[in-house]
Amino acid sequence: MSRRLVVWESHHDNGWTTTVAEQPGGVFVLRLRDGSAEGFSGQAGSVSEACAAALEALARTTGHVRCSLRCSEWALSLEPESEGSRD
Ligand SMILES: [Zn+2]
Repeated sequence: MSRRLVVWESHHDNGWTTTVAEQPGGVFVLRLRDGSAEGFSGQAGSVSEACAAALEALARTTGHVRCSLRCSEWALSLEPESEGSRD
């Protein structure tokens, strides 16, 4: 049986998506995505830190300094753990 990972995802008005994924061991991995392109990624020790870091990285990478009403809130979802995930 495979465990499921908790993933927070937020879509932004400039087409970028920020995701924060919980990893085994209490590490949270943050990513920026723009369709095919993948931007900054990093790690943080808590969900709130990871979300804040993701938004900072989004601002640095894409100039998206402030979220608008067209940006979505962080939405929680569950994803199956990928087979080849790193430790
Ligand atoms: Zn936004």
